[in-house]
Amino acid sequence: DEICDELLSFMSSGIYRFSGSNAVFIDPVCVLNNLYTQFKVSPAVYYSRFVEVPSEVNDGNPVVPSSSTKSKKKRKRSSHCLNEREKSAENRHLNARSFLVSAYESFQRAADLLRFLPNLLKGDDSLPDKRDAELNFIELGNLWQAPLYEMSLCCSMENMPAEGGNQPSHCGEMRAVPIFNNLISNESGYDLEADFLDSRYILPGKCCFFMSDLRRVHDLIPAQPEYGYNLIIIDPPWENGSVYQKAVYPTLPNKHLLYLPIKQLAHMEGTLVVLWITNKEKLRIFVEEELFPAWGVTNISQFYWLKVKPDGSLIGELDLFHHRPYECLLLGHINGKDLDSAHMPTYDTLPKSQVIISIPGAHSRKPPLGRLLCDYIPGPKPARCIDLFARELVAGWTSWGNEPLHFQDSRYFLRR
Ligand code: SAM
Repeated sequence: DEICDELLSFMSSGIYRFSGSNAVFIDPVCVLNNLYTQFKVSPAVYYSRFVEVPSEVNDGNPVVPSSSTKSKKKRKRSSHCLNEREKSAENRHLNARSFLVSAYESFQRAADLLRFLPNLLKGDDSLPDKRDAELNFIELGNLWQAPLYEMSLCCSMENMPAEGGNQPSHCGEMRAVPIFNNLISNESGYDLEADFLDSRYILPGKCCFFMSDLRRVHDLIPAQPEYGYNLIIIDPPWENGSVYQKAVYPTLPNKHLLYLPIKQLAHMEGTLVVLWITNKEKLRIFVEEELFPAWGVTNISQFYWLKVKPDGSLIGELDLFHHRPYECLLLGHINGKDLDSAHMPTYDTLPKSQVIISIPGAHSRKPPLGRLLCDYIPGPKPARCIDLFARELVAGWTSWGNEPLHFQDSRYFLRR
């Protein structure tokens, strides 16, 4: 029957569409695995927030909010103690609420999917290995030695799968390239292994990355407009009050985002721009009144990422003011330049709203959006895509940020 077909398709694509609803459920692990040839993402490490690990290897991540009555009391604010901005944020939440509730109801009606959810966390016995600390690229990139650091890549030809199997043949030659402020790419269609200091990183096929501070982001501007990007995803390190986040990576004042050269990165035939934002009203006003107009982004849609636990419940109460179980992303288009009607881009109209439901990964990692958005991207196919402030690489994409190799550490992967 129809439900079974959807579950079957979900098991291979990682995307479950609820019929008659603007909501989808995604399994980031499966979506990502479709982009690797020799490796797969370890579900136990990706979903480590929800996988029980012995205390000595716990990754220090905040576990799902325990929602003790005491903390709830502390966080739940009645509307009369909200200031003007908080009241607008609350109104925004109330407007989104029925949409979110109906998306969540569609999810809860998908009994086959709910029964299947606990399986998403299985599939390997590996535990997050926290004995060796992960490299801190942010610190290394700031050292005076940064220009001297090199990464060793296995040359692409040697990394091709051996004939008749999908095991790569031995990687013979190693090529050393500067790791910071340098565009590094895997030209092959296969996963490549690369060594840096004592760690190993997995580079998916046809990926490209540039690890630098914001000061060097202009180096990404393509020489010709036909090499611009048709999809630009931006997940900035917005300032927020959370001490926890401050400890994980440095943040940027809103105004600094105006330095991102989005117009120059855009493709001449048009670009879909996706911006992750927080639930703060001040930020929303900045984006709507300054940032998007400066970038030339119009026709704005709003999507939500609703986070659930493996048992299908929300990760927190929907109405807790400072701890919403959802995040927002704003999407819009930059129009193509000088296009005559014969070259008018053909792509689907972006829905005004959509809810993406998933079990969140560790370290507030965002779910992969490429597959969900591909029909709304203007310009030639395959689209040229870039992830700004990235912490991971994507096959066929360019990733930029001060730590785009973060989630490429081999500890996040299993060999196929
Ligand atoms: N999209 C990522 C994910 O899902 O894992 C999360 C990105 S996180 C919100 C923001 C990233 O921006 C962090 O990796 C942080 O280190 C990086 N960042 C902070 N300040 C930066 C700067 N000045 N230049 C480049 N990257 C910066």
